[in-house]
Amino acid sequence: MIMKRKQEVERIAEKIRKCTLCRLWKTRNKAVPGEGPSNAKIMFIGQAPGREEDKTGRPFVGRAGKFLNELLENAGMNRKKVFITSVVKCFPPRNRLPTSDEAKTCVETYLKKQILLINPKVVVLLGKVAQKYVPDELLSGRIVVKTIHPAAGMRFPRMRKKIKRDFKLLGKLVEELS
Ligand code: URA
Repeated sequence: MIMKRKQEVERIAEKIRKCTLCRLWKTRNKAVPGEGPSNAKIMFIGQAPGREEDKTGRPFVGRAGKFLNELLENAGMNRKKVFITSVVKCFPPRNRLPTSDEAKTCVETYLKKQILLINPKVVVLLGKVAQKYVPDELLSGRIVVKTIHPAAGMRFPRMRKKIKRDFKLLGKLVEELS
């Protein structure tokens, strides 16, 4: 069962890497499907890949990613055990916000399938884009944590305090669940 799920998650990732459904494929270098175990209990959902992610094809490897790693570590969580992805899988030029069309197409075609397959107990929505475009029906029956995007959290002292506090609470919650 777990093997089949892993293959299915990889099959979706392959489709994402070849996707041409919205205009972002024309300017991307590498699409970023997400990474983590296909049976992860926790899924983190960000906004869209940045420049570093676009170069490497891996989620949250730039500055915001380093901060996310720090937050996870401080909360006693292991990055290798969680699934990390974004609403939109391709870098929006100049790091602009994804349009509603781009976000909706990507969620409906890919993120929806990733959530249903991986079936995480806890979903962490990082920032406003994730909070806007991840549909409620995909979240029912799961614990949903809404917090600030790490890119904003690392920039503003008040937000930094808040995101750190949220991650600490998340760490406690995860510990109680396991
Ligand atoms: N920000 C995101 O929302 N996702 C990434 O993968 C990197 C930065």
